[in-house]
Amino acid sequence: MKTLIKDVDIVTLDEKGTVIRGGAIAIDGAFLVAVGKTPEDFAPDTTIDGTNHVAVPGFFNAHCHASMSLVRGYAEDLPLDRWFNERVWVAESALGPEEVRVGAQLAACEMIRSGTVAFNDHYFYMDHVAEVVEASGMRASLTWCQFGTGKEVGVDLEGALAFAERWNGKAEGRIRAMLGPHSPYVCPPAFLREIAALAKEKGLGLHIHLAESGEQVSRSLATHGVTPTRLLEDTGVLDVPTIAAHALYLSDDDVAILARRGATVAYCPITYMKLAMGPGDVPRLLRAGVSVALGTDGPASNNDMDMKEAVRFLTLLQKLACRDAEALAGDASLRVATQAGARAMGFPEAGALEAGRAADLVLFDFDKPHLVPRHDLVANLVHAAKGSDVSHVFVAGKLVYADGTILTLDEEKIRAEAERAAFRMVSRDLTVLRAYTS
Ligand SMILES: [Zn+2]
Repeated sequence: MKTLIKDVDIVTLDEKGTVIRGGAIAIDGAFLVAVGKTPEDFAPDTTIDGTNHVAVPGFFNAHCHASMSLVRGYAEDLPLDRWFNERVWVAESALGPEEVRVGAQLAACEMIRSGTVAFNDHYFYMDHVAEVVEASGMRASLTWCQFGTGKEVGVDLEGALAFAERWNGKAEGRIRAMLGPHSPYVCPPAFLREIAALAKEKGLGLHIHLAESGEQVSRSLATHGVTPTRLLEDTGVLDVPTIAAHALYLSDDDVAILARRGATVAYCPITYMKLAMGPGDVPRLLRAGVSVALGTDGPASNNDMDMKEAVRFLTLLQKLACRDAEALAGDASLRVATQAGARAMGFPEAGALEAGRAADLVLFDFDKPHLVPRHDLVANLVHAAKGSDVSHVFVAGKLVYADGTILTLDEEKIRAEAERAAFRMVSRDLTVLRAYTS
């Protein structure tokens, strides 16, 4: 299948940050064969008129719990510990495989519509999420989340590994799988050591939560005598490619460890604002050479999965927190939201629009009042464009969204099923709550 997008403005995010006005993009199969000029002997099966549209690499959501879409609006205005203990973990205890499937479908619809081509998911009943990814046409990196020593909730380590081996490389290579200890504050060091050794042996990466609060750091120092980040290094977790979600509370030594070990921090600005967790310091990480990717986190703490919105919040929050209007200037946030995540999730061929790269791209419809004038396409993308301005989404060369319609999933049916599934879950949750309080 060959597709030509003509007369389109292109924010390539190549090394030089090239922006092309009125160019062409030629797609052959899963890859870009030309960006800028139409190749002479290119005979497309389909041609898309890109007039008034801007092409940009698709977003890679580097940390989320997609199926938590069913908990959207169910855990509001609470501090982190009460948000977990009183709402989220209670609701999740009422969650079954069917809810996970429907929640992932709902999240996939939302992500595709707002220009996300891939997501890094950390949750339960992951075979159901994998099936949704396969059907949706998206890419994903998937992980069975493990609490404690992996024996208490969900599957044990053997089960998580079996899932990873079942799905890694599946869906025409669109799925990657990792192992996923929840965090160093939920999993004991011996388990971290065991899972890290297994990941290393099997050639898998790890996806974990890290240093979300100052309290987690003090507790780790009191219990283990080291920071959570040092604990990850000591237990071998950082011996394999690791995506560490959040990592907000880091000493200089912690930052140096993450840089030296090539770990990626998945930064989720909206969660930090909503749960009043603190802004972290992205420029500090980037200066030290730590790879930073962008995530939405789960819809219980965001409450949406719109990466375009997260791009703007990342930029604004860091400018404010650093008291530096030059922080994350130009296309820096777009790179965090695309190529950094692509690399960390195991799709290094994606994340820039250049010949030979993966055809993972999004068109924004710029024929809108808030996107006029076009002095600076990058600034318009970062600060003015909305996720809802996305008009087309290609993943691995396949068109999955065009002009308001998702071409791979039945969105109307999914919305209705999600409403029903969320209601069932909450009803079960109330039963749980009643049992607690009687
Ligand atoms: Zn998370």
